[in-house]
Amino acid sequence: DRIISANLMMEDQAVELSLRPRYLAEYIGQDQIKENLTIYIEAAKMRKEALDHVLLYGPPGLGKTTLANIIANELGVSLRTTSGPAIERPGDLAALLTNLQEGDVLFIDEIHRLHRTVEEVLYPAMEDFALDIMIGKGPSARSVRLDLPPFTLIGATTRAGLLSAPLRDRFGVVSRLEFYSVDQLSYIVSRGADILGIETVGDAADEIALRSRGTPRIANRLLKRVRDYAQVRGDGIITSAIAKESLQLLQVDPMGLDVIDHKMLHAMINNFRGGPVGLDTIAATIGEESQTIEDVYEPYLMQIGFLQRTPRGRIVAPAAYTHLGLPIPNTNG
Ligand code: ADP
Repeated sequence: DRIISANLMMEDQAVELSLRPRYLAEYIGQDQIKENLTIYIEAAKMRKEALDHVLLYGPPGLGKTTLANIIANELGVSLRTTSGPAIERPGDLAALLTNLQEGDVLFIDEIHRLHRTVEEVLYPAMEDFALDIMIGKGPSARSVRLDLPPFTLIGATTRAGLLSAPLRDRFGVVSRLEFYSVDQLSYIVSRGADILGIETVGDAADEIALRSRGTPRIANRLLKRVRDYAQVRGDGIITSAIAKESLQLLQVDPMGLDVIDHKMLHAMINNFRGGPVGLDTIAATIGEESQTIEDVYEPYLMQIGFLQRTPRGRIVAPAAYTHLGLPIPNTNG
């Protein structure tokens, strides 16, 4: 697995649990979302009602699961966690829903992967807090409506575009999470180091933040790796030099690009004159899945202005040539 992958890996789990913020005040960044949620949560509590259903979308590792946990915490209710692919049959979802207490939060990760038949159970549940159950078979079958306790559904997805319109329309709050700035990531690294009892000095936190691809999950993972290096090669203290050395050893460059990013950009430049080139062609050339490139790697490369998406395909942007130390091609003639 790539060290700079934003997807959750086995090695992340323990650290993530200890570093996961529990309250909105500890949640760095995403200011607009936090401000709105603070108001909605306060209002729901004053009215003693369930919070509106919330859809969180954006690339992996930006804090969707964390935010769902925080919302439940701030509301003072329980949270049940599941994921789209884990709910196999409508009955599985019905069981989850009937076990909720009033005001509880049901968190469905990867909600774009819900089965159609399961999704249909969700519509009346979200809209009317009701469950329509078929009793009997054949001509004598009839539908019975069961009341559910008012609850809040929080859905998370990396691909809002794949959500069906009827599902998307049933969310009262729809928020897109943004990549984090280097300053925000640096703060997250420093906070993580404090919690884990690691000493960082100088610009060490910034060095890690710069290479974290705008993603807290990657920042935490890199911090953990740098800590190992500092213990073995140094005296346990993370200095700027130690951070730089260890990340160089992990083949993460100063912008957070790894060998596969380099391979992809070089392939586009050398084989396709920097594009435009189709996603599937890029994927085939470097031996990666198109969807992985699209969901996980491209968003960051576009965010830092290295890659552009056009109707005719992907194009390597001038900033990427500069970063790779290559001459910028003259496109005017
Ligand atoms: P997602 O669900 O979007 O894939 P997570 O919520 O699992 O991402 O976030 C991954 C980890 O990153 C969390 O365990 C937490 O430690 C850290 N993290 C995420 N967002 C923040 C934030 N805003 N402030 C501090 N740490 C964060």
